[in-house]
Amino acid sequence: MLAAIDLEGVLAPEIWPYLGDHFSIPELHLTTRDSDDFDGLMKTRVDAMNRAGLTLADLQAVAHLVQPYLGAPEFLKRVRQYCQVMIISDTFHEFATPLMERLGGVNLFANRFVVDERGHISGWELRIRGRKSMVVQGMKQAGFKIIGMGDSLNDLTLLQTADYPILYRPVQRLREEVPNAPVVEGLDEALAAFLAIFKRNGSFA
Ligand SMILES: [Mg+2]
Repeated sequence: MLAAIDLEGVLAPEIWPYLGDHFSIPELHLTTRDSDDFDGLMKTRVDAMNRAGLTLADLQAVAHLVQPYLGAPEFLKRVRQYCQVMIISDTFHEFATPLMERLGGVNLFANRFVVDERGHISGWELRIRGRKSMVVQGMKQAGFKIIGMGDSLNDLTLLQTADYPILYRPVQRLREEVPNAPVVEGLDEALAAFLAIFKRNGSFA
């Protein structure tokens, strides 16, 4: 068994709106909860950041302050007593590495920025976009059963590919697209859903 869990909106707040608040850039408040056009979203974000003259280092200084949701490290610690955890996110490694440490040192699969010689973001390498399901599919082919949990449209393929999808405070369209998955509203409920799956599979300690 392997757990593939989304980051933002599940284990930690969305990082882009946090940057938007700090730097007073309204365009950064749009997230994958609002749009499934990720390239369009990224273009809007990067244009806005470059107009404001921000370097990646400026953004990192603030993004690195983001704390996990209360209880998220404990949730992961409990789940990891039963199975391995992969965090599969459309965030960027450059933003989220300290957050991973605060979550207990879990593995992150995410995207990377391309930076020009002045330190401004000039592009992005999408290793995850549209491929959450490919990561899950690969692990399934290696023989793992997958528990998937996410909150937004960018988790749709992950949830559709997982053996045991769980919707975490989902946007409405996600509920409609994955109608038979359990819906949880917090990390306590999520842990109960995970434990029920472990128990069904005979790995309840
Ligand atoms: Mg999310």
